[in-house]
Amino acid sequence: MARPHSVDTCLAELEANPDDDRVRERAALALTRAGRDLEACALLEDLVNLTAHDGPTLPCVCRRCLDPAISSAEAEDVRFVRRFVVHRGRVLFYWAPEALADDRGLLEGIRRRLGRRLARALDRRSA
Ligand SMILES: [Zn+2]
Repeated sequence: MARPHSVDTCLAELEANPDDDRVRERAALALTRAGRDLEACALLEDLVNLTAHDGPTLPCVCRRCLDPAISSAEAEDVRFVRRFVVHRGRVLFYWAPEALADDRGLLEGIRRRLGRRLARALDRRSA
């Protein structure tokens, strides 16, 4: 039976594959799930944070405002947890309702959105 990746396994994998976005995302997520948010954010800090500045309902997680220590928040009686996707050297942070924190569909939807946004940005640059 498949076991969830342990933090140590993920970190070893990242050490062997430092340029692999998925491996980095998985390692940071394993640290996040283990409550090691500062270490998780440290793994992501060299990436370009493309998250738009937002507020004030939930703490902003853009490049300027991101506070590594704040990994959960509450709004309108719903508990949210901080999550992120890593794609092509970029990271996008988002708040997910706790019940959907590890929802693959939500994560992949956000990854697709980030991919489309990047594709458009790169198109404009080369136009
Ligand atoms: Zn901000």
